[in-house]
Amino acid sequence: MPYRYRCARCGTTSRLYSTRPAADAHGEEHRHKEHSGDYPDGEQIQHVPGHRPSRAEVIATVIAMALLITALVSRI
Ligand SMILES: [Zn+2]
Repeated sequence: MPYRYRCARCGTTSRLYSTRPAADAHGEEHRHKEHSGDYPDGEQIQHVPGHRPSRAEVIATVIAMALLITALVSRI
């Protein structure tokens, strides 16, 4: 369920994030960087239904899972 941050005032849209908190964090950073911490009119977090993960996202997820499993197995 990907999300993206949209700032209507700047006319910019963030890349897709897999979680809403990650898109919120992008918005927070944008607010501080471009608007001195103020909330621009029309900003929003958009849900992008029907998005399929890219090949790079799938590979990154598989690598992260492999590292996690390796870390768990090495503790046994
Ligand atoms: Zn902006």
